[in-house]
Amino acid sequence: MGDETMRADCCIVGAGPAGLVLALLLARRGQRVTVVDRRQHLAEGGPSHAPFLSPPSLDLLGHMGLLDTLEPYGQPLRQIWEYDPRGGRTTLDYASVPGCTRPYALSLPLRALAAALEEALLKEPTARIMTGTSVRGLTGEADTGYGLDLLRNDVPVRVLSRYVIGSDGKFSALREMAGIGTQVFAFDRPAVMVELPLPVGAPERITAYRDVHGALVATMPVAEGKLTVLWAADPDAYAQIKESGVGALRRRLARAVPALTTPLTAHLSSWDQVMEVRHHVVRPERWYRGNLGLLGDSAHGVHSFGAQGLNLALADAVVLADLLNSTAKNPTADPLAAYEAIRRPYVEHFQELQTQLGVLSSNPRQPVRDTGMYAAIAEVMTLGQPEVTPLHALVTTTPQTTTR
Ligand SMILES: Cc1cc2nc3c(=O)[nH]c(=O)nc-3n(C[C@H](O)[C@H](O)[C@H](O)COP(=O)(O)OP(=O)(O)OC[C@H]3O[C@@H](n4cnc5c(N)ncnc54)[C@H](O)[C@@H]3O)c2cc1C
Repeated sequence: MGDETMRADCCIVGAGPAGLVLALLLARRGQRVTVVDRRQHLAEGGPSHAPFLSPPSLDLLGHMGLLDTLEPYGQPLRQIWEYDPRGGRTTLDYASVPGCTRPYALSLPLRALAAALEEALLKEPTARIMTGTSVRGLTGEADTGYGLDLLRNDVPVRVLSRYVIGSDGKFSALREMAGIGTQVFAFDRPAVMVELPLPVGAPERITAYRDVHGALVATMPVAEGKLTVLWAADPDAYAQIKESGVGALRRRLARAVPALTTPLTAHLSSWDQVMEVRHHVVRPERWYRGNLGLLGDSAHGVHSFGAQGLNLALADAVVLADLLNSTAKNPTADPLAAYEAIRRPYVEHFQELQTQLGVLSSNPRQPVRDTGMYAAIAEVMTLGQPEVTPLHALVTTTPQTTTR
C-alpha cells in the first residue's frame, strides 16, 4: 500500500511562532495550510523563555485579535538604561521614541503565545496541524517543485503543496535537505543567565552595565515574576569561575551589580540554576530554492542581545503571508524571491550590527567603540522595518477566499 498523500496550498514545517503566525494569516484568507511539528504538544514542553515582543510585534498581535488574551501574561519593559565603564548612562525610553506605537515592549512566555496561536488556528477550517510529525525527506526537485515525505507517529505521509516553508528553527533540517549552505559567526562570549524573583515594585527596565574589560551584566524583568540576570561573559573568566563553583559566579555578578548581593545569596545555590547559551549569527546563502522558503530562525540566526529573534520571525511571517495571499496585488512571478528581497537586507544589517559589538564577542568584526550598544540597535528594537509595519493593518481586513 502506498503512503497516504495530502494536498495543501502551503505546507509549513515547524510550528514555532513564525510557522503558526504564517499559517494563521494564510488560513484566514482561505488558503489550505498544513503545519507540521515533531513535538506532540505545541504549548507544552519546548523552550521556556519569555522573549520581549517589540511594539511592532504587539501591534501585529493586536490586529490579529490575540493581544487582549496575551497581554495579562506579559511583563512590560519601558526603558533600557545602559551604563558605560565610566558610569555614564544612555537611556532608551520607548515612550520617547518618535514613531514608536507603544510605550513598552512585552516579555511573553513562548508557551502562552503558542497556545493562543494554536487555539486560533484550530478555528480555521482550511488549516490542519500535524503534531508528532517529522520530515523524512523532500520529494521532487527545485525546478519542478518540492513535496514532503513525513513520518506521523511512525506512519509515512506525503504532502504535496504549492509552497513548502521551513520554519523549523536555527538548525533547520529543511534548509539542509534543500542544499542551502550557511555562514556561521560564533559569539565566543557565552550568555550566562540566572533567574531571581522579581522584587515587588521593580522598575520595568533593563539595566545594563559594561565594565572596563568589555564584559556586560544586565538585569531584565521578565514574565512570570522573574528577574533575569544576564552576563555576556569573558570566556576565560567564565571557565575559571566554573572551576571555582557557583559562589564565584555570585561574587562576579554582585561585583557588577552590588544590589544583587542579597538576592543572589538567597536564591542562587547550584549550577543547575544557571543557563548558558552560545549564540550564533546564521546566514543562509539564500532564503528560498524553488518552491521552498525559509522563515524565522531557519532563515536567520541572531544573538538574543537586542531581543529580536522572535520579532524578526514574526515580521518574516507578515511579509511572506502578504505575498502568498495577494499574488494579484503584488504582480510577481515568485513571492519567495520578493520576500527575500524585502527581508534579507534588513535582517543581515541587524546581524552585522551584532557581530560588531565587542560585548558579545572578543573578536568582533569592525568593533564599535564607546557608543551605546542599545543605541546602535534602538530603531530595530522600537520601530521594526518600515516596509513591514504598514502590512499589520491588512491582517484585520475581512477574511475572504483567495481567488488563486
Ligand atoms: C535565551 C533566549 C532568549 C531569547 N529572547 C528573545 C527576545 O527577548 N526577543 C526575541 O524576539 N527573541 C528572543 N529569542 C529568540 C526567539 O526565541 C526565537 O528567535 C524564536 O522562537 C524563533 O521562532 P521560530 O518559529 O523561527 O523557531 P522556533 O521557535 O525554533 O520553532 C521551530 C519549530 O520547529 C520544530 N521543528 C524543528 N525541527 C523539526 C523537524 N525536523 N520536523 C518537524 N518540526 C521541527 C520545533 O519543534 C519548533 O516547534 C531568545 C532566544 C533564546 C534562546
